[in-house]
Amino acid sequence: MKIRYDENGVHLFNRNTGANLLIDELSVPHDKWSNAPRHVSFALTNICDLKCAYCYAPKDRSELEFEDLKNWITEIDLGGSLGVGFGGGEPTLYPRLAELCNFATVNTDLAVSFTTHGHRITAAMCEQLKGNVHFIRVSVDGLGSTYEKLRGRSFDTLLGQIQLIKAIAPFGINYVLNADTIPDLIQVANFWEQQGATELLILPEIDAKGMFSADILLRLKQFLDGYTGKLPLRINENCANGLPIAQPFNDTNPLLAYAFVDARGMLKRTSYQTGGMDITGKSLIQGLELIKSQSEQLINHK
Ligand code: SF4
Repeated sequence: MKIRYDENGVHLFNRNTGANLLIDELSVPHDKWSNAPRHVSFALTNICDLKCAYCYAPKDRSELEFEDLKNWITEIDLGGSLGVGFGGGEPTLYPRLAELCNFATVNTDLAVSFTTHGHRITAAMCEQLKGNVHFIRVSVDGLGSTYEKLRGRSFDTLLGQIQLIKAIAPFGINYVLNADTIPDLIQVANFWEQQGATELLILPEIDAKGMFSADILLRLKQFLDGYTGKLPLRINENCANGLPIAQPFNDTNPLLAYAFVDARGMLKRTSYQTGGMDITGKSLIQGLELIKSQSEQLINHK
């Protein structure tokens, strides 16, 4: 059981069951707050063997240093983070993924997850990962031919891969929502519920200007209002305004809710942010504090 203290109260979390208990009646003094984000994601590598048209990951061969990752993971665990997520590019193309998951599970109390397109997971990798991962997110947009058009891979092959993934850990589906995929949404939720997925994360596509389509968000709201299935649904917080969501947290400092480190070692508030702070060989927590004090200085100078 991991315990986190922050402005929301006392948060208990069990990585093996995924159970969360937030005791928000308890007010935690500021000097006792955990100083690491609730969740931190690392893009292990920018390498990916797919060519999805809507991919925003940079197309180069950058990857994070293993020693940096071990230090950052240790640091955020001590600082009160509850979970660490690995992504990319394609994290299963990071040569030491299994070793990294083992390190995080054995040496910390963090819940370990990764996001994958699923096609590179082999039976041998499956054996190495078992017991060292708590959740796997599989990126699947659309069913059948819609998936094949968007991802350029066979849907039947993917379903075979899902059997391997299921043997490692509980899995959820990441679903990019756009004009191609929204017509399938009801069937998708039903299909993955039957396949044993434990959640559907809906990610409305962002256009080149960083905006969501108003039409897609309206159709999503209509879907949510009428959804009667049992599969838990999640959504990107950035587009949640006006949608019927359960949000227990009220984070005044977003850097204590979530942080992202890209494959070049740049620390950011989100994976969409450009720029960031290079923390290669340095402390992640100190990087966050520096970003916070720089933003405060900017506000004070306005
Ligand atoms: S699988 Fe993910 S990282 Fe790879 S091209 Fe598609 S969206 Fe980008």
